[in-house]
Amino acid sequence: MPRQITVKASFSEKPITALRREHISGDLPSDLQEGELLHLRDKNGKFTATAYHGVQNRAIGWVISKRQLDAIDADFFAHKFENAFAKRLPLLRNKKTNVFRIFNGEGDGVGGLTIDYYDANILINYYSEGIISYRKQIIEALKRTAEFATITEKNRSQKLVETESSKRGDFVVLENGVKCRVNLESGGMTGIFMDQREVRQAIRRNYAKNRNVLNLFSYSALFSVFAVLGGAKSTTNVDIARRSHEIAEANYALNGISAASHKFITEDVFEFLIRAAKQNRKYDLIIIDPPSFSTSNGVAFSTEKELGKLIDAALAVSSKNAALVISTNNSKISKEQFSKLVGKRIKIREEFSLPADYRANRDLPESSYLKVAIGTPL
Ligand code: SAH
Repeated sequence: MPRQITVKASFSEKPITALRREHISGDLPSDLQEGELLHLRDKNGKFTATAYHGVQNRAIGWVISKRQLDAIDADFFAHKFENAFAKRLPLLRNKKTNVFRIFNGEGDGVGGLTIDYYDANILINYYSEGIISYRKQIIEALKRTAEFATITEKNRSQKLVETESSKRGDFVVLENGVKCRVNLESGGMTGIFMDQREVRQAIRRNYAKNRNVLNLFSYSALFSVFAVLGGAKSTTNVDIARRSHEIAEANYALNGISAASHKFITEDVFEFLIRAAKQNRKYDLIIIDPPSFSTSNGVAFSTEKELGKLIDAALAVSSKNAALVISTNNSKISKEQFSKLVGKRIKIREEFSLPADYRANRDLPESSYLKVAIGTPL
């Protein structure tokens, strides 16, 4: 049976999707298990919403219905999935793109759960032990809603990424006609960050022609591949992990690009930028898309502290009319903070956020984590 939880007036009067400890009057029951349903009530006992208990960053649970639900089963999830998939029909029918998000957590009505589509192979990400307790119902609902080739699950709760994989090995997906090598088996990264789809398209269309491109934190170098296809003269990819460049070179080859005028440099970005500035090198398109945090090979980096410093170092190797693409997925940096920090350093021409398949939740501006600005040196 669901637990009866009293919430504060501030919450019951204007409930939001993410339930936090500060919304609750008193303590949570000490024997409460992740996954249990909660009936949220105001201090007079009036019903507010049904949530499930799942611990994820600041959330201790997610509101999943305004109705009083006593249990959630495969039907519950199937209904949510049908609605979500219907909203992705244009993408499901698009012949040039077969990699996108088909279910985006709280934006689609179930926080803590995302589902991505990789050419009919499904990747489920669980973000709490609470949502994992509904695994069976989720898989059954998926199978009932549509036909998929394989289903792979990742447990991303508590920073742990475990994969129970049913899709083995590398395979190729398409984004706006561009081929990309992916792998769903290990780790958190699959080869593509699909939330950058619109930025890659903008780079190919409007910012690449005849440019010498510097791609920092290049990973699988999809920004560079789009730039080359948009007419870039050269690309220089910098990433601290040699493994990234193996994927990147495979992506160049898949798209018929010879590696001749392209560089793949295994180095810390800051060290690279110091060296490039000393050698007076200049680039006409610089892409800066760092991870929020990283400790690759013992080098610690945090965008919150270092994004400004990073942009300044990149400006030192920018040609006069260069375009800079600056991106962060750090949800701790607000849109306003980002625009201010970036706007102090470049003249912003265009900004991007998450594409429509990463459905936003109106209650939670911070869930719209992606911020991208494109501009020129001041
Ligand atoms: N921009 C990429 C995604 C970046 S993922 C894309 O669009 O696909 C983060 C990458 O940064 C990883 O490949 C990681 O190896 C690299 N990285 C992390 N810290 C680094 C550092 N200090 N210098 C260079 N690369 C770094």
